[in-house]
Amino acid sequence: MRVIASAAVSSDGYMDDCTPQRLVLSCAEDWAEVHAIRASCDAILVGAETVRRDNPALMIRDEELRCHRKLCGMSPDIVKVVVSGSGRLDAGLRFFTEGEGVRKIVITSEQAVVDDALRRVAQVIRLSHITACSIIDVLEDEGVETVLVEGGAKIMKMFFDEDAVDDMRLAVAPITVGDDAAPRLPYYGELPFEWRCFDRCCRQVGNMTVCEYAVHVPSEGGLTAIDMRRLGRAIDVSRQSPPCATAYRVGCVVAAGDREYEGYTHETGPANHAEEEALAKALDDGAELRGATVYTSMEPCSKRSSKPVSCTELLLRCGVSRVVYACAEPDCFVQCDGGNILRRSGVEVVSAVKYAPLVRDINAHLTA
Ligand SMILES: [Zn+2]
Repeated sequence: MRVIASAAVSSDGYMDDCTPQRLVLSCAEDWAEVHAIRASCDAILVGAETVRRDNPALMIRDEELRCHRKLCGMSPDIVKVVVSGSGRLDAGLRFFTEGEGVRKIVITSEQAVVDDALRRVAQVIRLSHITACSIIDVLEDEGVETVLVEGGAKIMKMFFDEDAVDDMRLAVAPITVGDDAAPRLPYYGELPFEWRCFDRCCRQVGNMTVCEYAVHVPSEGGLTAIDMRRLGRAIDVSRQSPPCATAYRVGCVVAAGDREYEGYTHETGPANHAEEEALAKALDDGAELRGATVYTSMEPCSKRSSKPVSCTELLLRCGVSRVVYACAEPDCFVQCDGGNILRRSGVEVVSAVKYAPLVRDINAHLTA
């Protein structure tokens, strides 16, 4: 199972202040990304404190995101999980009342006294020891493959201490709280994964600085949260390409260092492919493409009628070391062997077939 942790903090590391009202840290752009991450996960997990204090509904309401989940064979709703050692949770909280038919799980201790009202609205799982590892085990048994851990501080600390976080997304708002009594993100400023991660990315998102860390290498063919976001972006960008009878609608994100360059089919020229558009922007910017990762909604072409050089050849010439794509190129125009050629040339190729139905849907003008 992949555990993604997500937190928003003030620049001095606080997750909230001490006033009764929730401190708003996220800007609209950050919220949109967090919602997209939620929509890519099977379950969302929070601590009892968060549910009591903030009373969040933790639903995926965006119709488009729900529709994307369905296309990818997922339930439109995310499983909601709350961890409470005492089991004392009010069944009237929005966590339980919102989302009819949505699975809600309470993870609690063996000795907890759980009232009937709560048992009626949620599945109760009892653990002899509540640890991150035991939570992961039971959620795996429940069929969860990706879980988003959103807080609060106690839950975060437990997952950090057990080295159970695979990916971390940290959004830092340009405000300070400066109140020792306020809840703070454990280890902020000395986060254990900041030096252990094998991949990282820091970007400006609205007025926030967002740092993403990939701590554990995913299993064969799997994606990190950074990969998921960038591939998701490539798929989104492909929608900007107008449908036409002679080309697929493809989107591409080139990640070179901390910079990301996007492009889509026919963006600046009638024969240009998405990869060419994104690579051209990176080259114009002087980006180092050796060792770069390229995300593309569809397998890079290996043969094309419009130009002599294929995108596969172009990627090899640029020296990119990794290519992640969602959908193999269908045989509408030519037989594509881009993935295999890249692999044989020493490029790491990840085909994230889970997202292929989304790409086929965007290309229904040709494949339907
Ligand atoms: Zn191409």
